[in-house]
Amino acid sequence: MNLDNPYILLTPGPLSTSPTVRQAMLRDWCTWDDDYNLGVVTPIREGLAKLASATRPGDYTAVLMQGSGTFSVESMIGTAIPRGGKLLVLANGEYGNRLARIAMTLGIETLVHDSGELAPPDLNRLDEELGEHPDISHVVVVHNETTTGMLNPLADIARIVKEHGCIFMVDSMSAFGGIPLDVAELGIDFLVSSANKCIQGVPGFGFIIARIAELEKCKGNARSVSLDAYDQWQGMEKGHGKWRFTSPTHVVRAFAQAMKELDEEGGVPARFARYSENQRRLVRGMERLGFRCILPHELHSPIITGFHDPEAPDYDFRKFYDLLKEKGFVIYPGKVTGIDSFRIGTIGHVFPEDIDRLIAAIGECRYWEDSADPISSELEACV
Ligand SMILES: *Cc1c(COP(=O)(O)O)cnc(C)c1O
Repeated sequence: MNLDNPYILLTPGPLSTSPTVRQAMLRDWCTWDDDYNLGVVTPIREGLAKLASATRPGDYTAVLMQGSGTFSVESMIGTAIPRGGKLLVLANGEYGNRLARIAMTLGIETLVHDSGELAPPDLNRLDEELGEHPDISHVVVVHNETTTGMLNPLADIARIVKEHGCIFMVDSMSAFGGIPLDVAELGIDFLVSSANKCIQGVPGFGFIIARIAELEKCKGNARSVSLDAYDQWQGMEKGHGKWRFTSPTHVVRAFAQAMKELDEEGGVPARFARYSENQRRLVRGMERLGFRCILPHELHSPIITGFHDPEAPDYDFRKFYDLLKEKGFVIYPGKVTGIDSFRIGTIGHVFPEDIDRLIAAIGECRYWEDSADPISSELEACV
Protein backbone atom coordinates (compact mmCIF):
# COMPACT_ATOMS: atom_id res chain seq x y z
CA MET A 1 0.00 0.00 0.00
CA ASN A 2 1.27 3.44 -0.90
CA LEU A 3 1.02 5.74 2.11
CA ASP A 4 2.51 8.73 0.32
CA ASN A 5 0.39 11.84 0.10
CA PRO A 6 -0.09 13.72 -3.17
CA TYR A 7 0.51 17.02 -1.36
CA ILE A 8 1.59 18.42 1.99
CA LEU A 9 -0.84 20.41 4.07
CA LEU A 10 0.42 23.86 5.02
CA THR A 11 -2.71 24.49 7.06
CA PRO A 12 -3.47 24.85 10.76
CA GLY A 13 -4.99 21.37 11.00
CA PRO A 14 -5.69 18.84 9.89
CA LEU A 15 -2.06 18.90 8.94
CA SER A 16 0.49 16.61 7.37
CA THR A 17 1.27 13.63 9.55
CA SER A 18 4.07 11.10 9.36
CA PRO A 19 3.50 7.81 7.53
CA THR A 20 4.05 6.00 10.85
CA VAL A 21 1.27 8.00 12.53
CA ARG A 22 -1.09 7.06 9.71
CA GLN A 23 0.06 3.45 9.85
CA ALA A 24 -0.95 3.23 13.50
CA MET A 25 -4.59 3.38 12.40
CA LEU A 26 -4.47 0.20 10.34
CA ARG A 27 -5.95 -2.14 12.88
CA ASP A 28 -9.00 -2.31 15.11
CA TRP A 29 -8.75 -2.02 18.84
CA CYS A 30 -10.94 -3.36 21.61
CA THR A 31 -11.80 -0.78 24.25
CA TRP A 32 -13.20 -2.85 27.07
CA ASP A 33 -10.03 -4.25 28.60
CA ASP A 34 -6.68 -3.04 29.86
CA ASP A 35 -4.79 -3.25 26.52
CA TYR A 36 -6.37 -0.06 25.37
CA ASN A 37 -7.30 1.79 28.53
CA LEU A 38 -4.21 1.15 30.61
CA GLY A 39 -1.90 0.51 27.69
CA VAL A 40 -2.76 3.44 25.44
CA VAL A 41 -5.18 5.97 26.94
CA THR A 42 -3.63 6.29 30.39
CA PRO A 43 -0.05 6.86 29.12
CA ILE A 44 -1.42 9.51 26.74
CA ARG A 45 -3.12 11.30 29.63
CA GLU A 46 0.00 11.15 31.77
CA GLY A 47 2.20 12.22 28.86
CA LEU A 48 0.01 15.25 28.19
CA ALA A 49 0.17 16.37 31.82
CA LYS A 50 3.98 16.15 31.61
CA LEU A 51 4.03 18.10 28.35
CA ALA A 52 1.88 20.77 29.99
CA SER A 53 4.06 21.13 33.04
CA ALA A 54 7.56 19.83 33.48
CA THR A 55 7.72 21.31 36.97
CA ARG A 56 4.45 20.09 38.53
CA PRO A 57 2.77 17.49 36.27
CA GLY A 58 1.11 15.91 39.32
CA ASP A 59 -1.01 19.03 39.86
CA TYR A 60 -2.65 18.58 36.47
CA THR A 61 -4.72 15.99 34.67
CA ALA A 62 -5.60 15.54 31.01
CA VAL A 63 -9.21 14.85 30.06
CA LEU A 64 -9.61 13.57 26.51
CA MET A 65 -12.81 14.59 24.72
CA GLN A 66 -14.34 13.32 21.48
CA GLY A 67 -14.88 15.74 18.62
CA SER A 68 -12.90 18.48 16.94
CA GLY A 69 -11.02 21.09 18.97
CA THR A 70 -14.05 23.33 19.37
CA PHE A 71 -15.90 20.56 21.22
CA SER A 72 -13.13 20.58 23.84
CA VAL A 73 -13.24 24.37 24.06
CA GLU A 74 -16.96 24.18 24.68
CA SER A 75 -16.42 21.41 27.18
CA MET A 76 -13.81 23.45 29.08
CA ILE A 77 -15.89 26.63 29.20
CA GLY A 78 -19.12 24.84 30.06
CA THR A 79 -17.52 22.73 32.77
CA ALA A 80 -15.13 25.22 34.39
CA ILE A 81 -17.54 28.09 34.91
CA PRO A 82 -20.20 27.58 37.58
CA ARG A 83 -23.71 29.08 37.45
CA GLY A 84 -23.30 32.70 38.49
CA GLY A 85 -19.75 32.86 37.17
CA LYS A 86 -18.71 35.69 34.88
CA LEU A 87 -16.26 35.36 32.02
CA LEU A 88 -13.96 37.90 30.42
CA VAL A 89 -12.86 36.95 26.90
CA LEU A 90 -9.76 38.59 25.41
CA ALA A 91 -10.43 38.38 21.70
CA ASN A 92 -8.29 39.32 18.73
CA GLY A 93 -9.55 37.13 15.97
CA GLU A 94 -11.98 34.47 14.83
CA TYR A 95 -11.04 31.99 17.54
CA GLY A 96 -11.31 34.54 20.34
CA ASN A 97 -14.74 35.48 19.06
CA ARG A 98 -15.68 31.82 19.05
CA LEU A 99 -14.81 31.58 22.76
CA ALA A 100 -17.29 34.38 23.42
CA ARG A 101 -19.95 32.84 21.21
CA ILE A 102 -19.65 29.51 23.01
CA ALA A 103 -19.93 31.13 26.45
CA MET A 104 -22.94 33.24 25.44
CA THR A 105 -24.67 30.25 23.87
CA LEU A 106 -24.22 28.40 27.14
CA GLY A 107 -25.92 31.27 28.97
CA ILE A 108 -22.74 32.40 30.73
CA GLU A 109 -22.47 36.09 31.55
CA THR A 110 -19.69 37.22 29.21
CA LEU A 111 -17.68 40.35 28.67
CA VAL A 112 -15.49 40.71 25.59
CA HIS A 113 -12.36 42.81 25.22
CA ASP A 114 -11.77 42.90 21.50
CA SER A 115 -8.40 44.44 20.65
CA GLY A 116 -8.93 43.93 16.92
CA GLU A 117 -7.29 41.32 14.76
CA LEU A 118 -3.99 43.15 14.39
CA ALA A 119 -3.28 44.07 18.02
CA PRO A 120 -2.44 42.02 21.10
CA PRO A 121 -4.78 42.23 24.12
CA ASP A 122 -4.67 45.53 26.00
CA LEU A 123 -3.01 44.62 29.30
CA ASN A 124 -3.78 47.90 31.09
CA ARG A 125 -7.43 47.59 30.20
CA LEU A 126 -7.42 44.01 31.46
CA ASP A 127 -5.92 45.09 34.78
CA GLU A 128 -8.43 47.93 35.14
CA GLU A 129 -11.41 45.80 34.18
CA LEU A 130 -10.57 43.09 36.68
CA GLY A 131 -9.98 45.75 39.35
CA GLU A 132 -13.33 47.42 38.69
CA HIS A 133 -15.32 44.19 38.29
CA PRO A 134 -14.44 41.76 41.06
CA ASP A 135 -17.41 39.62 39.95
CA ILE A 136 -15.40 38.45 36.91
CA SER A 137 -14.46 34.93 37.95
CA HIS A 138 -12.82 33.56 34.80
CA VAL A 139 -10.64 34.91 31.99
CA VAL A 140 -10.01 33.13 28.70
CA VAL A 141 -7.67 33.90 25.80
CA VAL A 142 -6.39 32.20 22.67
CA HIS A 143 -2.67 31.37 22.85
CA ASN A 144 -1.82 31.47 19.15
CA GLU A 145 -4.63 33.30 17.33
CA THR A 146 -4.76 31.17 14.21
CA THR A 147 -6.62 33.90 12.31
CA THR A 148 -3.43 35.91 11.99
CA GLY A 149 -0.70 33.79 13.58
CA MET A 150 -0.39 36.24 16.46
CA LEU A 151 1.23 34.83 19.56
CA ASN A 152 -0.60 36.38 22.50
CA PRO A 153 1.51 37.34 25.56
CA LEU A 154 0.36 34.53 27.84
CA ALA A 155 2.80 35.21 30.67
CA ASP A 156 1.81 38.89 30.98
CA ILE A 157 -1.89 38.07 30.81
CA ALA A 158 -1.51 35.24 33.33
CA ARG A 159 0.26 37.49 35.81
CA ILE A 160 -2.56 40.05 35.76
CA VAL A 161 -5.32 37.43 35.89
CA LYS A 162 -3.68 35.73 38.87
CA GLU A 163 -3.12 39.04 40.69
CA HIS A 164 -6.88 39.45 40.62
CA GLY A 165 -7.50 35.88 41.74
CA CYS A 166 -9.39 34.75 38.65
CA ILE A 167 -9.41 31.34 37.04
CA PHE A 168 -7.30 31.46 33.87
CA MET A 169 -8.26 29.41 30.82
CA VAL A 170 -6.36 29.17 27.53
CA ASP A 171 -7.28 27.97 24.06
CA SER A 172 -3.84 26.71 23.09
CA MET A 173 -5.24 24.64 20.26
CA SER A 174 -2.71 25.61 17.64
CA ALA A 175 0.28 26.11 19.97
CA PHE A 176 0.36 23.33 22.56
CA GLY A 177 3.16 20.88 21.80
CA GLY A 178 4.77 23.31 19.36
CA ILE A 179 5.52 26.24 21.65
CA PRO A 180 7.14 25.61 25.03
CA LEU A 181 5.06 26.47 28.09
CA ASP A 182 4.57 25.36 31.67
CA VAL A 183 0.98 25.70 32.86
CA ALA A 184 1.99 25.48 36.53
CA GLU A 185 4.58 28.25 36.23
CA LEU A 186 2.17 30.48 34.32
CA GLY A 187 -0.72 29.79 36.67
CA ILE A 188 -3.00 28.40 33.97
CA ASP A 189 -5.95 26.50 35.43
CA PHE A 190 -7.43 25.05 32.24
CA LEU A 191 -5.90 24.71 28.79
CA VAL A 192 -7.34 23.11 25.73
CA SER A 193 -5.80 21.68 22.56
CA SER A 194 -6.51 18.91 20.08
CA ALA A 195 -5.00 15.83 18.50
CA ASN A 196 -4.47 17.27 15.05
CA LYS A 197 -2.36 20.34 15.66
CA CYS A 198 1.21 20.59 16.95
CA ILE A 199 1.33 17.06 18.36
CA GLN A 200 0.76 15.98 14.76
CA GLY A 201 -1.97 13.41 15.20
CA VAL A 202 -5.13 13.11 13.13
CA PRO A 203 -8.47 14.82 13.89
CA GLY A 204 -11.03 13.20 16.16
CA PHE A 205 -10.53 14.33 19.73
CA GLY A 206 -9.29 17.17 21.86
CA PHE A 207 -8.04 17.39 25.42
CA ILE A 208 -8.38 19.61 28.42
CA ILE A 209 -5.40 20.04 30.71
CA ALA A 210 -6.91 20.92 34.09
CA ARG A 211 -5.51 21.85 37.45
CA ILE A 212 -6.86 18.98 39.53
CA ALA A 213 -7.66 21.22 42.52
CA GLU A 214 -9.93 23.35 40.28
CA LEU A 215 -11.47 20.53 38.25
CA GLU A 216 -12.53 18.90 41.52
CA LYS A 217 -14.82 21.90 42.14
CA CYS A 218 -16.58 21.53 38.78
CA LYS A 219 -19.02 18.73 39.50
CA GLY A 220 -22.47 19.59 38.16
CA ASN A 221 -21.32 22.74 36.33
CA ALA A 222 -21.64 21.35 32.81
CA ARG A 223 -24.50 22.50 30.58
CA SER A 224 -24.16 19.34 28.47
CA VAL A 225 -23.94 15.62 29.15
CA SER A 226 -21.56 14.65 26.36
CA LEU A 227 -19.27 17.65 26.92
CA ASP A 228 -19.12 17.34 30.71
CA ALA A 229 -15.34 17.37 31.30
CA TYR A 230 -15.77 16.62 34.99
CA ASP A 231 -17.79 13.50 34.29
CA GLN A 232 -15.41 12.46 31.51
CA TRP A 233 -12.51 12.90 33.93
CA GLN A 234 -14.23 10.82 36.61
CA GLY A 235 -14.98 8.14 34.02
CA MET A 236 -11.36 8.03 32.88
CA GLU A 237 -10.01 8.02 36.43
CA LYS A 238 -12.34 5.35 37.77
CA GLY A 239 -12.21 3.27 34.59
CA HIS A 240 -8.40 3.65 34.30
CA GLY A 241 -8.58 5.24 30.87
CA LYS A 242 -12.11 4.27 29.87
CA TRP A 243 -14.07 6.78 27.80
CA ARG A 244 -17.72 7.23 28.78
CA PHE A 245 -18.93 6.98 25.19
CA THR A 246 -17.43 5.42 22.05
CA SER A 247 -13.79 6.32 21.89
CA PRO A 248 -12.12 7.28 18.59
CA THR A 249 -9.81 4.29 18.87
CA HIS A 250 -7.89 4.67 15.62
CA VAL A 251 -7.30 8.35 16.24
CA VAL A 252 -6.13 7.65 19.78
CA ARG A 253 -3.70 5.03 18.50
CA ALA A 254 -2.32 7.45 15.95
CA PHE A 255 -2.01 10.05 18.69
CA ALA A 256 0.00 7.67 20.89
CA GLN A 257 2.39 7.23 17.99
CA ALA A 258 2.50 11.00 17.44
CA MET A 259 3.39 11.56 21.11
CA LYS A 260 6.20 9.04 20.75
CA GLU A 261 7.49 10.84 17.67
CA LEU A 262 7.35 14.19 19.43
CA ASP A 263 9.53 12.74 22.15
CA GLU A 264 11.94 11.21 19.61
CA GLU A 265 12.26 14.55 17.85
CA GLY A 266 13.53 16.05 21.10
CA GLY A 267 10.27 17.18 22.69
CA VAL A 268 8.59 20.55 22.47
CA PRO A 269 11.84 22.61 22.30
CA ALA A 270 13.01 20.70 19.21
CA ARG A 271 9.63 20.95 17.55
CA PHE A 272 9.48 24.66 18.32
CA ALA A 273 12.91 25.05 16.73
CA ARG A 274 11.80 23.23 13.57
CA TYR A 275 8.58 25.22 13.25
CA SER A 276 10.51 28.44 13.86
CA GLU A 277 13.00 27.58 11.14
CA ASN A 278 10.11 26.68 8.81
CA GLN A 279 8.48 30.03 9.46
CA ARG A 280 11.72 32.04 9.13
CA ARG A 281 12.41 30.46 5.75
CA LEU A 282 8.83 31.01 4.68
CA VAL A 283 8.85 34.71 5.52
CA ARG A 284 12.29 35.29 4.04
CA GLY A 285 11.36 33.49 0.83
CA MET A 286 7.96 35.15 0.50
CA GLU A 287 9.38 38.61 1.12
CA ARG A 288 11.97 37.99 -1.57
CA LEU A 289 9.14 37.11 -3.92
CA GLY A 290 7.50 40.43 -3.07
CA PHE A 291 4.80 39.25 -0.65
CA ARG A 292 4.11 41.20 2.52
CA CYS A 293 3.23 39.75 5.94
CA ILE A 294 0.07 41.00 7.62
CA LEU A 295 1.58 41.16 11.10
CA PRO A 296 4.85 42.77 12.17
CA HIS A 297 7.44 40.01 12.62
CA GLU A 298 7.72 40.49 16.38
CA LEU A 299 4.07 39.58 16.99
CA HIS A 300 4.35 36.36 15.04
CA SER A 301 4.19 32.75 16.16
CA PRO A 302 5.99 30.07 14.15
CA ILE A 303 2.64 28.35 13.53
CA ILE A 304 0.93 30.13 10.66
CA THR A 305 1.60 33.32 8.72
CA GLY A 306 -0.81 35.62 6.92
CA PHE A 307 0.23 37.36 3.71
CA HIS A 308 -1.44 40.16 1.79
CA ASP A 309 -2.79 39.16 -1.59
CA PRO A 310 -0.60 40.46 -4.41
CA GLU A 311 -1.86 43.78 -5.72
CA ALA A 312 -2.51 42.53 -9.22
CA PRO A 313 -5.81 42.65 -11.07
CA ASP A 314 -5.29 39.12 -12.41
CA TYR A 315 -4.70 37.56 -9.00
CA ASP A 316 -7.29 35.05 -7.82
CA PHE A 317 -6.70 32.93 -4.70
CA ARG A 318 -8.53 29.91 -6.05
CA LYS A 319 -6.33 29.76 -9.12
CA PHE A 320 -3.14 30.28 -7.09
CA TYR A 321 -4.32 27.56 -4.67
CA ASP A 322 -5.04 25.09 -7.47
CA LEU A 323 -1.68 25.69 -9.15
CA LEU A 324 0.17 25.15 -5.87
CA LYS A 325 -1.87 22.08 -5.04
CA GLU A 326 -0.85 20.55 -8.36
CA LYS A 327 2.75 21.14 -7.32
CA GLY A 328 2.17 19.37 -4.01
CA PHE A 329 1.35 22.17 -1.56
CA VAL A 330 -1.97 23.04 0.02
CA ILE A 331 -2.24 26.55 1.49
CA TYR A 332 -5.09 28.20 3.36
CA PRO A 333 -7.41 31.15 2.68
CA GLY A 334 -7.12 34.30 4.78
CA LYS A 335 -9.62 35.28 7.46
CA VAL A 336 -8.65 38.79 8.54
CA THR A 337 -11.57 41.19 8.16
CA GLY A 338 -11.08 43.84 5.50
CA ILE A 339 -7.71 42.52 4.29
CA ASP A 340 -7.44 40.35 1.20
CA SER A 341 -5.01 37.71 2.30
CA PHE A 342 -4.02 34.07 2.46
CA ARG A 343 -2.25 31.99 5.09
CA ILE A 344 0.51 29.43 5.08
CA GLY A 345 0.96 27.08 8.02
CA THR A 346 4.38 25.85 9.09
CA ILE A 347 3.34 23.07 11.48
CA GLY A 348 2.92 19.33 10.99
CA HIS A 349 5.26 16.81 9.41
CA VAL A 350 6.83 19.61 7.41
CA PHE A 351 10.53 20.46 7.30
CA PRO A 352 12.68 23.43 6.26
CA GLU A 353 13.50 21.70 2.93
CA ASP A 354 9.75 21.48 2.24
CA ILE A 355 9.50 25.22 2.77
CA ASP A 356 12.35 25.82 0.33
CA ARG A 357 10.53 23.70 -2.25
CA LEU A 358 7.34 25.62 -1.53
CA ILE A 359 9.03 28.97 -2.14
CA ALA A 360 10.41 27.70 -5.43
CA ALA A 361 6.92 26.46 -6.40
CA ILE A 362 5.30 29.77 -5.47
CA GLY A 363 7.90 31.55 -7.58
CA GLU A 364 6.74 29.45 -10.52
CA CYS A 365 3.02 29.91 -9.80
CA ARG A 366 2.86 33.69 -9.94
CA TYR A 367 0.83 33.70 -13.10
CA TRP A 368 -0.32 37.25 -12.34
CA GLU A 369 3.22 38.64 -12.68
CA ASP A 370 4.62 39.85 -15.92
CA SER A 371 7.12 37.08 -16.69
CA ALA A 372 9.35 39.59 -18.43
CA ASP A 373 9.63 41.64 -15.23
CA PRO A 374 13.41 41.81 -14.67
CA ILE A 375 13.08 42.55 -10.95
CA SER A 376 11.08 39.46 -10.12
CA SER A 377 13.32 37.12 -12.09
CA GLU A 378 16.29 38.59 -10.32
CA LEU A 379 14.53 38.04 -7.00
CA GLU A 380 13.77 34.48 -7.93
CA ALA A 381 17.44 33.87 -8.49
CA CYS A 382 18.11 34.75 -4.83
CA VAL A 383 15.79 32.10 -3.41
C1 LIG B 1 -7.95 24.81 15.24
C2 LIG B 1 -8.35 25.72 16.33
C3 LIG B 1 -9.51 25.48 17.11
C4 LIG B 1 -10.42 24.30 16.91
O1 LIG B 1 -10.90 24.14 15.66
P1 LIG B 1 -11.67 22.82 15.23
O2 LIG B 1 -11.97 23.10 13.80
O3 LIG B 1 -12.87 22.68 16.05
O4 LIG B 1 -10.72 21.67 15.44
C5 LIG B 1 -9.78 26.34 18.15
N1 LIG B 1 -8.97 27.37 18.43
C6 LIG B 1 -7.86 27.63 17.71
C7 LIG B 1 -7.01 28.78 18.10
C8 LIG B 1 -7.52 26.82 16.64
O5 LIG B 1 -6.41 27.08 15.93
